[in-house]
Amino acid sequence: MTSTLYLADTIATMNAHNEVLTAGAVLVTNKSIAAIGSAVSLKSQYPGATVVNLENSLLMPGLVNTHCHSGLLRGTAEGLPVWAWLQQYIDPMHRVIHADEAALASRLCYAEALLSGTTTIVDMWRHMRGSAEAALHQGIRAVLVPYVAEHPDHDYFETLDANEQLIKDWHQHQSDRISVWVGLEHMFYAVPAAMQRISALCQNYQVGFHTHSNESRFDVDKTIERYGARPVQVLEQLGLLAAPHTLLAHCVWLDDAEIQLLADHGVGVAHNPVSNMKLASGAAPIGAMLAKGIAVGLGTDGEKENNNLDVFEELKTASLLAKHSNADAAALDAWSICRMATIDGARALGMQETIGSLEVGKRADMIALNTHTPRMTPLITSGQYMNLQHNLVHAAQGGDVAMTMVDGRVLVRHGELLCDDLSKRIRAANRAIGPLLARRDAWIASAGTAVNELEKS
Ligand SMILES: [Zn+2]
Repeated sequence: MTSTLYLADTIATMNAHNEVLTAGAVLVTNKSIAAIGSAVSLKSQYPGATVVNLENSLLMPGLVNTHCHSGLLRGTAEGLPVWAWLQQYIDPMHRVIHADEAALASRLCYAEALLSGTTTIVDMWRHMRGSAEAALHQGIRAVLVPYVAEHPDHDYFETLDANEQLIKDWHQHQSDRISVWVGLEHMFYAVPAAMQRISALCQNYQVGFHTHSNESRFDVDKTIERYGARPVQVLEQLGLLAAPHTLLAHCVWLDDAEIQLLADHGVGVAHNPVSNMKLASGAAPIGAMLAKGIAVGLGTDGEKENNNLDVFEELKTASLLAKHSNADAAALDAWSICRMATIDGARALGMQETIGSLEVGKRADMIALNTHTPRMTPLITSGQYMNLQHNLVHAAQGGDVAMTMVDGRVLVRHGELLCDDLSKRIRAANRAIGPLLARRDAWIASAGTAVNELEKS
């Protein structure tokens, strides 16, 4: 059995007490954390272990990105609020994208995630066999959620049949790093019978369910008009909060009764502050959700709504948005945000027993940040002026990540991705985008306009 002892100046464990170790060490045996403590004592206890000294580093759990979409539309879908944006730019792309382009998008997405410190990603995307292959080879922990629509107006998305087949083929089969859940773009993209089948699939395969909900005021108003109830209430009535695990993205416009429903059903929430600001969706009531004990994680959303996948930016933006929208400089404290990015993100996925903190028995999913930089200096790790948590939320950037490890395997070393030819992927993506946009333009021209499907139905 091979063991490696990683030494770091500072270790933010993100355990129940947010414990911080100085001159610490983590012993990794195979995929898991076998011991954690002071470097001096672990070196003497495990003299046979290979020692890796991560100088000038802060070791912490890998970040959990609870809501993302692979994609190639970065910077080409700008300046519209969410529903108009979907109809003008995004749904027409979904009509024309090919499987090889979708696979390439996942390669880039997971590479960007690993390079900026994300070790677990929830990806809602298309043609996800290519995504599964990308995760398998690049080494990221992935929750794959097909972009399902089961509605006559949206017959160009993934189907529940395809989702079921992906579960059979990939859910913890080829690698237990890879999970497959049941996905739904949005409840407006499914007929009632499909909703029932989603619920049955989740139960049959004991997998989670993920969708977008309560993102914009329009979304809520339209749901009330159609169903006579608010979105979370409708999801409950359809049995979709009773899946083995349910994760809802956004939850910007919630009333108190909906917050209570989320708490009662143990539903996880993916908070996407950059996306919510960029698409002018609003500010989610994070404080009220945390007060009810709801597991709230952070998400970047996709390359088209963000426009990068750096979760460290979400920490800072979550803090700024909460403080700005509540006119309260103390809103959403730094430790809560650090937890949202790690252990609470894991809890939002129902994976808190396996990942999210550096504790004995958990998987060795961890990252090392370079602290020998102006923006991380000074770094004070204890006492009255302790600033580690504030540096992580307001100063750190994804580019500070020097090492990323998943399941004990180093995937990024000295800031370089080890398990893929990134230059080749970047060149391929720059070649692919022209034809993809041309096919989208052709579809829009042939349809006369990017039709307003919501108004039509
Ligand atoms: Zn999304």
